[in-house]
Amino acid sequence: MIYVKDLAKSFGDNHVIKNINMHITPGEKVVIVGPSGSGKSTFLRCLNLLEQPTDGTITFDGQEITAPGVDVNKIRRRMGMVFQHFNLFANLTVKENIMLAPVQLKLKTKAEAEAEAVRLLKLVNLEEKADSYPSQLSGGQKQRIAIVRSLAMDPEVMLFDEPTSALDPEMVGEVLELMKKLADDGMTMVVVTHEMGFAREVATRVVFMDGGYIKEENNPKDFFEHPQDPRLQDFLSKVL
Ligand code: ADP
Ligand code: MG
Repeated sequence: MIYVKDLAKSFGDNHVIKNINMHITPGEKVVIVGPSGSGKSTFLRCLNLLEQPTDGTITFDGQEITAPGVDVNKIRRRMGMVFQHFNLFANLTVKENIMLAPVQLKLKTKAEAEAEAVRLLKLVNLEEKADSYPSQLSGGQKQRIAIVRSLAMDPEVMLFDEPTSALDPEMVGEVLELMKKLADDGMTMVVVTHEMGFAREVATRVVFMDGGYIKEENNPKDFFEHPQDPRLQDFLSKVL
């Protein structure tokens, strides 16, 4: 579904992503871990072209999306992205937040988008918040709304950048539960997280990034039980 070949990204002299190769098949759940500043967010942002790579290619569903002339917005619609900070529109209700993009882009009629919003709110048990504003929600509720807002676009892939890092500890679980539900439903997912329990339980593959490179990748069992790279061993000794 996604082929990343010799990907590099620099900001001036700062070579953030040095050479990344990755192949993501449909339904895979790739979890990316690594120290702060290792390029994880930049990599995710390159995947949906929020950043233009300096070098290399990304192919998505057979189309080279890093080629000149590609309609970036069209690609982004097919890849949902959820950030650490929820980025909900404060002046819109929860339901309006969910309906906005599909209606504005004319992918759905208002009635269709509303029916879909109601379905998605039921999925996360937040029907009663439909007409609330984001400021009236807890952090965990906001993040669950941000996730279903992405789902309203029927994405083929979901990218998550530390979706639970800004949450109070007691709200982490409800967001991870929703992500597990998506995973079980077969969604293709790329998740940057520090939640090692989630990685162990949900990932089909765990990737360790360090200094702009993928230093190691493996199935969760071997990744956590038999890390090879000394930097990964050191990293795991600090986070586990
Ligand atoms: P991580 O998510 O692993 O913590 P990031 O991808 O956010 O790492 O950042 C890696 C490096 O890239 C950092 O040194 C950061 O300062 C730099 N960086 C990220 N985005 C930008 C940007 N838009 N402009 C300049 N430097 C950036
Ligand atoms: Mg980051």
